[in-house]
Amino acid sequence: MTRTLVIGGGLTGLVTAERLQAEGHQAVVLEKEATPGGACRTEERGPYHFDYTGHLLHVARDETRTYLERLGVWSRLTEHDRRAAIHLGGAITPYPIQIHTWGLPPEIRRDCLLGFIEAWAAQRPDPMNFFQWVLDQFGEGLGRHFFFPYNEKLFRARSEELSLDWVGRYVPKPDLKEVVDGALGLHDKAVGYNARFRYPAEGGIRLLADAVADQVSDLRLDTEITKIHLKERWVETAAGDRLPWDRMTATLALPFLVDRVVDPLPDDVEAARRALRWVNVLNVALGVRGPAPRPEHWFYFPEPEFPFYRVGFPSNHGRLAPEGHHTVSIEVSLKPGFPVPENLVEEAEAALMRIGMLQPETIEERLVTVLNPAYVVFDHGRKSAVAHLRRFFSDYGVHLAGRWAEWKYSAMEDAILDGMAAARWLKPSGDR
Ligand SMILES: Cc1cc2nc3c(=O)[nH]c(=O)nc-3n(C[C@H](O)[C@H](O)[C@H](O)COP(=O)(O)OP(=O)(O)OC[C@H]3O[C@@H](n4cnc5c(N)ncnc54)[C@H](O)[C@@H]3O)c2cc1C
Repeated sequence: MTRTLVIGGGLTGLVTAERLQAEGHQAVVLEKEATPGGACRTEERGPYHFDYTGHLLHVARDETRTYLERLGVWSRLTEHDRRAAIHLGGAITPYPIQIHTWGLPPEIRRDCLLGFIEAWAAQRPDPMNFFQWVLDQFGEGLGRHFFFPYNEKLFRARSEELSLDWVGRYVPKPDLKEVVDGALGLHDKAVGYNARFRYPAEGGIRLLADAVADQVSDLRLDTEITKIHLKERWVETAAGDRLPWDRMTATLALPFLVDRVVDPLPDDVEAARRALRWVNVLNVALGVRGPAPRPEHWFYFPEPEFPFYRVGFPSNHGRLAPEGHHTVSIEVSLKPGFPVPENLVEEAEAALMRIGMLQPETIEERLVTVLNPAYVVFDHGRKSAVAHLRRFFSDYGVHLAGRWAEWKYSAMEDAILDGMAAARWLKPSGDR
């Protein structure tokens, strides 16, 4: 019998095993944490439910919907029209900024509008990096006030260092009329991949991963893989147990996968590993007395005086707090390898208090977590390094699946589809 292993019991790994099982094959899922779900988990603290940062479901494919219906999840999700905004220049205006500059102070609005018109009229050569692309697509004003500071705060990298491999799906491009309408407050069209989203009516986003985990017959929690031998085909757990494998899907983050390989690594593989850049995210989840200070689901904060890049009010889209209370999610991007600044949580809360989004002495629960990694930095070396590592692992019968193993920018729907694809790959060859 083929011995099939899946490293990681997040959404991708769970769907991989569930789909294999549905076709009569067995896989063992090895998960280092005590609960399944990875980034798609929810923690309870007193009466509050905290996700590991805002996790909203966008479903674009019928295949995903059918899958979630079959799991009994779909009917427990509520659909919402996005209420997202940008906090800039002491003002608040709806997201996306490029078609909603009307809410900003007049000087910023003028810069954004003039810059867009100049860019629209200019004939620029093809952009080579994110900096040039923003100037080309949106102009200097929108770049200076929003796109550059926001993305530099999020990715902890200069805009020139970022490639264009990730922007198409995530940054909507309006035409001139939309931008002018947006400066005058005439725009009311929902725009972007996340204009509508779904979220569990109760209990948080873990509903998704838990529903899949319930179907997986061999899910081993508290089982961290610390060593991987590619030539001899075994993995070793932190407890010292060895498991042999014939085929394996890895869903843990690509650099950490490389770090666990005990075979001697060729220099080019070592170099590709060193080329991978990312940021971690510190999430401060708060359970707060009193109603939410704002009706929005989340806010973007481009300005450097705010340590966070995004703040959400998750209880505005799901029952996550008792009546008359609310939850807050504060996301701060961190460069890996540096200690978390000592007063960061206090500074973040104080910054929210200064703008009236948090009241003193109302915090009842606090959960601080770090997602490592959180966002892949799409610099110019990423593409070739990932292709190189993918080939290397594939030669040893290891398939990479999911956001962090494939070292990409993707969402929960992609994790479900990646899991389905991994299951097809893992099936014994006569059966594919
Ligand atoms: C800040 C942030 C916000 C996001 N917001 C959204 C959103 O709003 N909507 C959306 O759709 N998606 C969102 N995502 C993306 C979403 O979280 C991912 O696409 C999805 O959860 C990926 O699942 P995965 O199984 O591939 O990875 P993971 O969830 O990371 O699963 C990998 C699993 O591997 C385990 N593991 C790691 N190392 C080992 C080891 N050595 N041994 C055993 N197990 C190991 C981990 O514990 C983890 O459970 C967001 C992501 C981030 C970081």
